[in-house]
Amino acid sequence: MSVWEEAITRRLRALHLGSIKSQILVFAVVATLVPTLATTVVSYRQLRESLAGRVALELRGASAGAAWEVDQWLGERLHDLHVAATSFAVSENLSRMTGSGGGQAAGRLRDYLNTMRERCSDCEALLISDARGRTVVSSGGRMSGVQFSLDRLSGLRTADALVGDAYWDAGLGRAAIAVAVPVREPDGRFLGALTAKISLRPVADLLQRLAPDGGEGGDLFVMTEQGRLVLRSRMSSAELMRTKLPVAVTQPLFDNEGASVEYRRADGQDVVGTLRRVPALRWAAVAELPRRGALAGGAGIASVMLFVVLLAGLGLVAYALGLLIVRPLGRLTAAAAKVAAGDLSAELPVGGGGEVGYLTQVFKNLVTRVREREGQGELERLSVTDALTGLYNRRHLMGTLANEVQRSRRLRRSFAVLLVDVDHFKQYNDTHGHLAGDAALVKIAEILRKTTRAVDSVARYGGEEFLVMLLETTLQTAATVAERIRSRVGAESFEGGHVTVSIGAAEYPSHGDTPEELIASADAAMYRAKGAGRDRVMVAGAPEEGERRRQGDG
Ligand code: GH3
Ligand code: MG
Ligand code: MG
Repeated sequence: MSVWEEAITRRLRALHLGSIKSQILVFAVVATLVPTLATTVVSYRQLRESLAGRVALELRGASAGAAWEVDQWLGERLHDLHVAATSFAVSENLSRMTGSGGGQAAGRLRDYLNTMRERCSDCEALLISDARGRTVVSSGGRMSGVQFSLDRLSGLRTADALVGDAYWDAGLGRAAIAVAVPVREPDGRFLGALTAKISLRPVADLLQRLAPDGGEGGDLFVMTEQGRLVLRSRMSSAELMRTKLPVAVTQPLFDNEGASVEYRRADGQDVVGTLRRVPALRWAAVAELPRRGALAGGAGIASVMLFVVLLAGLGLVAYALGLLIVRPLGRLTAAAAKVAAGDLSAELPVGGGGEVGYLTQVFKNLVTRVREREGQGELERLSVTDALTGLYNRRHLMGTLANEVQRSRRLRRSFAVLLVDVDHFKQYNDTHGHLAGDAALVKIAEILRKTTRAVDSVARYGGEEFLVMLLETTLQTAATVAERIRSRVGAESFEGGHVTVSIGAAEYPSHGDTPEELIASADAAMYRAKGAGRDRVMVAGAPEEGERRRQGDG
C-alpha cells in the first residue's frame, strides 16, 4: 500500500468509514453534492444579480418617467396660463378696468376666463386680480384658501410663475395646486395676476399608469422635498397628504437619486425604491417594489431547484450503482465469516462478472475443496462407528482388542470382555416392526455406553450383539458390570414392552490369549446363559476346565 493510500485509509477508519458501502456513500456525496451546492450558490447569485439589475432598471424607469411626465404636464399648464396672461384681451381689459368702461371690460374678462376654463380640463377655477391684489373677475368654481402675496406676485417676471403647495381640495374631493402668473402692460407695468386652481387628477392617473410591476406589488408616488406625500399610484386622499415620510427614509433616496435604495416602510414592509426630482414643483417621484418579491424571481429559483433535484437524483443513482458493487461483496464477506466459523454449508450465488464475480467463483471453489477434505474426515469417522447406534463397529473393536491384548501381555495386566445378545429379538421384530427393533437397539446401546467408563470400548458386534471391552478389569468386576447392564435393560421400558439380554463374560488372559479366543469364550458363556433360560449373566470358565468337565461327563 502506498503512503497516501495508507494515510487516507487510516483517516476513513477513524471516521468509521471503513466499509466499502460507506466509502461509496461518501464518494457519491462528494461527487454529486459538492458540485450541486457550488452550482446552486453560483447560479443563485447570478440570478439575484440579474434580478437586482432588472429591478433597478424598472424602478429607475418608473421614477424618471413619472418625474418627466409631471414636469411636462405642469409646463403645459403654465404655458397656457402665460399665453392667456400675456394676451392682449387680458392686459387690455384689465388695464381698462381701472379706467372708464370698467363694466364692459369685466364682462369681456369673464367671458375670456370661461372660454379658457372650457379648454383647460384640469383648471378647476380661474381668477384675475388687479395690481392691488383684489379679485376682479373669477370663473365658476371656488378658489378656496389660495392666496399668493401681492409682493411675490408683483415681483414675478413675465415668464415666471408662482406654484403653490399641493393641498387636498375638499370641494373637488381631490388634490390640487394653485399657480399664478403676472399680467403686465406691454411696457412692463404690473397690472395684476392670473391665478388658477389645477386638479392633480392627471398626475394621479399617470402615476397609476407608470407604477412598477403593473401597480400590483409596486408603488409610485410623489412627495415634496420635505417628504410630505402628495399622491400615490394606489390612492390619494386628504389623509395621505397629511403623511410625512421620516428623514431616515427620504434622505438616502434624495442622496442617491436615480439609484436603488433599500429601506423599511412605515407599514413594516421592506422595499427597494428609486427617487427622481421634479424641480419645477420641488417634488420628487419615488418608485417602490417590495424587496422580497423583487429579488425572488419565481421562475429562476424554480429552475435552480429543478437542477438541484436532478443532481440529487443523479447522486442517488450513483449510490444505487455503488450498492450493486457492494452487495456481492457483502455476501462474500458474510460467507467468509461463516466459513471462518467452521460452517462450510455457506452457499454463494455467482451472479454478474467482473472482479467481484471472479472473486466469488474462486471463493466458492476454495470452499468446495475444503468441504471435500472435511467429507473425507467424515468418512473416516464413519468407518469406525456403527451408523445406527453410533457405537464402534466390529472392525474397529477388533483392532482395539488386538492392541489391548498386546499391551496387556507386555504389562502383564488383565482385562475383560462382555458379549451381549438380545433375547428373542427376532420375535420382537416380528411383533413390533423393524423400526421399533432399531429403536430398541439404539436404547440398549445408550445403556451400554452409560454403564461403562470412558476408557472402556463398546461396539456393535453383529445384528443384535454387542461387545464390551473393560480395561484393567477382573472377571469378577466384569460380572458385576454385566449384571448391572442386564438389570438396567430389563428395567427399561421399550416401545414393545420389555426386552432382556443374555451376557457372557471372559477375561484375558485366563479365557483366551487372542481376541478371537477371548470372544469365543465370552460367546460360549453367553450361549450357556441362553440355555439356562436367558436374561442372565454367565462367566467363562477356564477352557481346560470346560474340556475336563465335558470329558468327565462323557
Ligand atoms: P435368541 O437370541 O434369544 O436366541 O433369539 P433371537 O431371536 O434374538 O435370535 P436370532 O439370532 O435367531 O435372531 C436375531 C434377530 O435379530 C434376527 C434379526 O431379525 C434381528 N436383527 C439383527 N440385526 C438387526 C437390526 O439391525 N435391526 C433389527 N430391527 N433387527 C435386527
Ligand atoms: Mg444373536
Ligand atoms: Mg438374540
